[in-house]
Amino acid sequence: MSLRDQIIARIRAQGPMRIDEYMATCLLHPTLGYYTTRDPFGTSGDFVTAPEISQMFGELLGLCLAQTWLDQGAPKPFTLAELGPGRGTLMADALRACRQVPGFIEAAQVTLIEASPTLREVQQKTLKSVDVSWIDTIQELAEQPLFLIANEFFDALPIRQFLRDGTQWRERQVGLDAGGLSFGLAPAQPQPALAYRLADTQDGDLVETCAAAAPIVEEMAARITAQGGTALIIDYGGWHLIGDTLQALRAHKKVSPLETPGDADLTAHVDFQALAEAANACTHTQPTAQGTFLERLGITQRAQVLASNLTGAALESHVAAHRRLTHSAEMGNLFQVMALYPQGGAPPPGVDP
Ligand code: SAH
Repeated sequence: MSLRDQIIARIRAQGPMRIDEYMATCLLHPTLGYYTTRDPFGTSGDFVTAPEISQMFGELLGLCLAQTWLDQGAPKPFTLAELGPGRGTLMADALRACRQVPGFIEAAQVTLIEASPTLREVQQKTLKSVDVSWIDTIQELAEQPLFLIANEFFDALPIRQFLRDGTQWRERQVGLDAGGLSFGLAPAQPQPALAYRLADTQDGDLVETCAAAAPIVEEMAARITAQGGTALIIDYGGWHLIGDTLQALRAHKKVSPLETPGDADLTAHVDFQALAEAANACTHTQPTAQGTFLERLGITQRAQVLASNLTGAALESHVAAHRRLTHSAEMGNLFQVMALYPQGGAPPPGVDP
C-alpha cells in the first residue's frame, strides 16, 4: 500500500492527523518515508544543500570548530558530531581542512546522529577512511567535550501549526475531502503553551511550534556547559516567526505538502528564538547571516585559491557556488548561523556574539 493510502486509511480510522504526525510519517516512515528510502540531495535529487554546492562550506565550518577547540585549550579526546549529516560531504570536507590543525584529528571522535539507514550507508561510503560511529539520538553522545554541526537539520523536524481564534487556537490538521488529503482546522481550544504568543499575534495569525527541537538543544547546551565545546546551528528561518512556513520540495520545485506524501521533502523554517530559549543552560550567539559568517571566515580568499586551478565551465560553476552560498539574494541572508558556547567563554569565530 502506498504511503498516501496508508495515511488515508489512518485518517478514516482515527480522524484528522496533526501536521507533526504527518511530517514525521512522510519523512521517516520505516519503509516508505522520504529520507528512509532515498538520497535526495544534488542536482538529480530534490534539493541542494550548502555542503553539496561547494567544498568551501564544510572546510570553513570545520576550521571554525577547530579554532574554537584551540581557544578552549584543545581538549582530548572530544566528540566531533554532526546532526543529520546527509551524504557526509560536510564532515568529509571539514576533516580534510582540519588535518592542518595539529592534534585535532587525533583527538576527534567522529559521531553522526542520523535517522535514515539509507543515508547512513551513503555517509559510510563518503567517510570510508574515517573511524565513525552512528547513534540514533543526541542523548547517546559520549560524556566529553562536544563540537557539533547541524546544517539543515532543524528544518526537517516535525512542526505543529495553530491559527489564532480570539484567545484560543485552532490546530491545522490533515483530513480528507472528495479529492483526497486536505488541510482543515480543529475546533478552537485554549493552548497554555502558546499563551506568550497572544501578545504578538492577532486573530487569524498562524504560529508554528516544533516540540522535537527543544529537547535536542537542551541536551547540547547541558553538555557544552558540563564538558565544554560548541554547536553551530545553520538553517533557514528567523527570530520569532509568524505564518505558515511548511513547504514541500520535489525535483527543485515547490509542490503542495499534501501532493506526494513520502516523495517530496517537507520542511519548515526554524525559529531561532525558540532554539535560543532551549539553550539557556549555556550561552548562545545571535543568528548571523550565512553570507556574513562565511565572509568573515575567509570564503573569498579560499575561493580565490581554488579558482587559480580552474578554467572554463569548472571556474564558472565555482564562481556561481561562491555567490550562491554568500549573496544576499541567494542563501546568504535566508540562512542563519547561531552558535552555542560555554558561559564566560568566547563565541566561535564569524558569528555575532
Ligand atoms: N546536513 C545535511 C543534510 C540535511 S537534510 C546537508 O547539509 O546536506 C536532513 C538530514 O537530517 C538528513 O540526513 C535526514 O536523514 C536527517 N534527519 C531528519 N530527521 C532526523 C531525526 N529525527 N534524527 C536524526 N536525523 C534526522
